[in-house]
Amino acid sequence: MSGQHVYRIDERLPEGTDARALLGGKGAGLAEMARLGVPVPPAFTLTTEVCRHYRERGGYPEGLREQVEAALRWIEAQVGRRFGDPSEPLLVSVRSGAPVSMPGMMDTILNLGLNDETVEGLAATTGNRRFAFDAYRRLLQMYGDVVLGVDHARFEEAFAALKAELGDPRMSDTDVPAEALERLVTTYKAVIEAEAGEPFPQDPQAQLWGAIGAVFASWDNPRAQRYRRMAGIDPAMGTACNVQAMVFGNLGDDSGSGVAFTRNPSTGEKALYGEYLPNAQGEDVVAGIRTPWPLTAAAAAPGQEDRSLERRQPEVFAEVQRLCARLEEHFRDMQDVEFTVEHGKVWLLQTRTGKRTAQAAIRIAVDMVDEGLLDPPGAVLRVDAAALEQVLHPRLPGPEQLRERGIAPLAQGLPASPGAASGRIVFDADEAERRVAAGERVVLLRRETSPEDVHGMKVAEAIVTATGGMTSHAAVVARGLGKTCVAGVSALEVDEHARMARVRTEDGAAVELADGARLTVDGTRGLLYQGALEVEAAATMPEFDRLMGWADEVRRLRVRVNADTPAQARFGRSLGAEGIGLCRTEHMFFAEERLLAVRCLVLAEGEPERARWLQRIEPMLRGDFEAIFEAMDGLPVTIRLLDWPLHEFLPREQTELRAVAEALGVPLEEVERRTRQLGEVNPMLGHRGARVGVTHPSIYRSQVRAILGAALACRSRGVDARPEIMLPVVALAEEVALLRRHVEEEAEALFEREGSRCDFAVGTMIELPRACLVAADIARHAEFFSFGTNDLTQTTFGMSRDDAGKFLPAYMDEAQGLLRFDPWARLDEAGVGTLVRMAVESGRGARPSLHLGLCGEHGGDPASVDFCHRVGLDYVSCSPPRLPVARLAAAQAALRHLPDGP
Ligand code: PEP
Ligand code: MG
Repeated sequence: MSGQHVYRIDERLPEGTDARALLGGKGAGLAEMARLGVPVPPAFTLTTEVCRHYRERGGYPEGLREQVEAALRWIEAQVGRRFGDPSEPLLVSVRSGAPVSMPGMMDTILNLGLNDETVEGLAATTGNRRFAFDAYRRLLQMYGDVVLGVDHARFEEAFAALKAELGDPRMSDTDVPAEALERLVTTYKAVIEAEAGEPFPQDPQAQLWGAIGAVFASWDNPRAQRYRRMAGIDPAMGTACNVQAMVFGNLGDDSGSGVAFTRNPSTGEKALYGEYLPNAQGEDVVAGIRTPWPLTAAAAAPGQEDRSLERRQPEVFAEVQRLCARLEEHFRDMQDVEFTVEHGKVWLLQTRTGKRTAQAAIRIAVDMVDEGLLDPPGAVLRVDAAALEQVLHPRLPGPEQLRERGIAPLAQGLPASPGAASGRIVFDADEAERRVAAGERVVLLRRETSPEDVHGMKVAEAIVTATGGMTSHAAVVARGLGKTCVAGVSALEVDEHARMARVRTEDGAAVELADGARLTVDGTRGLLYQGALEVEAAATMPEFDRLMGWADEVRRLRVRVNADTPAQARFGRSLGAEGIGLCRTEHMFFAEERLLAVRCLVLAEGEPERARWLQRIEPMLRGDFEAIFEAMDGLPVTIRLLDWPLHEFLPREQTELRAVAEALGVPLEEVERRTRQLGEVNPMLGHRGARVGVTHPSIYRSQVRAILGAALACRSRGVDARPEIMLPVVALAEEVALLRRHVEEEAEALFEREGSRCDFAVGTMIELPRACLVAADIARHAEFFSFGTNDLTQTTFGMSRDDAGKFLPAYMDEAQGLLRFDPWARLDEAGVGTLVRMAVESGRGARPSLHLGLCGEHGGDPASVDFCHRVGLDYVSCSPPRLPVARLAAAQAALRHLPDGP
């Protein structure tokens, strides 16, 4: 830590310092505004290093007090008033400000420096006794609440009692007379003393340090911790603390406070957007006590244009507009600006990059290219790649907006598949089909889903499960189907037989969810709401295509789609997929009409019986493959040989067992016996993937015939089919060599029979640690690797991907500090990433032409895509809705890691 802990806003930072990291967003913004010459009240910033020192050692670094003292003296000189001076007091604000924006999460205290003496000085110098006591009561309330931990309700009760005593409980704050406010100050001081067990400090220095301590402590309040967990913010970063001379928006009708966005944050339209409250301090605008004016006449409700700042105070509006334009031009981004007008003079208190919807982000970036503020790579870097997932889906307003309308979420789970939908609850797939056929919209609610539910998932508007994570059956299938899904809602108990579910809310109450009740699902955020909320349609916008075009020009990574059906393949292609990176053939077996044949195949004993069922299934698969090759004409299609989760295909219900017995022509007890025998203790590590090919080569051979037969048929019709055959869950080079032999023998035999041939590649999934360790040996038998990071994460951590939801939250809890991300959502670079890197290097060492991709869920996560770029993969593959995310993230990675790039 350097010896300098405090920076005045007119001070330059040492060369090469990251201003935001050191001064926080607010501090850096203030310094930048000061440098630009826009009017900012003088201020200084205690750095984030002080916060880290405070958190780690519970005190302040040496020299801090002296530096704060000196900086405060500088403010005094600038303003011409002194802190604590009874006749002409300087008042300051103390505010938090982290390097990344965490709006409203931490604390702020205004009007510090007031006490029983200075309040008189303030009254005299402003000639406004009411104002002075109003400022004092605000300080008492904020200080009492934030620093001394007095419940703010106590203050509100006292204020309400005062208004009642004045004869009007509904009286507006601004109508309370000076004399009453003086009494309120006395009451507030008594409230503090009674509740906190100590009096409000009259010494301004004590106030200042109390406030600074509270700001640093607020970094660790539960609200901030929760926000950080949600936004993936590093808790070690710490907040800065800004001390600034107060300016007053509540000095009369020629004063006021406002917030301005330099462009519309919901639509991106280039027009000032915001609110203004005359005769008010900043927090009044946010608190929603009075209805603010819109800034522009255009934003006012029809007929209310005269209530806008633009019409009421044109000079003030013009000045705000001029300053906003100046800031936007400088920062080359949409700004969210806080301003205060004191007797007609506009002061800027804060500027930061404005939060915006995904649509607005795209429109602003593209408009700024047209306006010459950004170049296309700048625009590509500007848009949050993860947010693109929202653009193509129907959506709900955010929970904050809904809360304003009195709507609170019922429960939270994992945002397993984006979008939003509402419908009536059903508890099983058949019922879902029946109700949809009868014209209803349904939400399928299950403890978890399995292949038998797929037909119900297809017709449902949305899917909700109580258990399971981001790579559970429900999540993967829903994403593939493009259905909204919230998985792993741990507060949800589902009783499928009783057709009833119950949600335990945070306050311990139980809410019943009956069959047929309406439910709204926000799959983008992982939230459930009771009732049918209005869902906004997906937006289509020309700006999106332009941005994607620029992204495609600069990215090096290719982007493929995970698709198991022709419809998904076409959908993927329309979203820019350059091939299929993973066609999971087991999903083809999920189809309702095939399920019986597949169950019989699974339960068949001996080759002849197995061959009989394979013969039935093979032509169906071949038909599927032909349609997929057609959809992907001219592009590579990686088809994975069967990796069935065996347990998901075993019959469970009596009716299912009976159907299998009948089809196989064996007694029911025999089917039950075989089912028991095939049951596994740990299916995730059981008889799956390549192990099926090793024990039952006929299954893999049949699939090879279906794939290559389809490719030949397509080629004969002029369709450019490009098959790549992939082996799943391999651990041994010898497994790959053996299975490759089966593939090649079967291919040769087919080509002989058909009298024609086609090119095809054979490669393997790399999804077990051992495969990474022996990648060089494996590469000798494989033309490509595709990293299956779902299983690789599972096996590297030794945590079942189906069960992790039960304990992962404890690992992600900030207080425990174990994991900052769900490793199935964002690739764990330190562990899983090291294995991937090893396999890339040794695989390429053994076979320089080795083609490398990744097809786990991480292929649609921006940070993981960045890793794939850095580690030198050729492509990533992801579910259709995440293709735009992957394309943009790949472009951003390429721009970020240019040899001489930003
Ligand atoms: C993987 O393991 O990452 C993968 C893509 O395969 P699956 O999710 O089908 O196991
Ligand atoms: Mg896998």
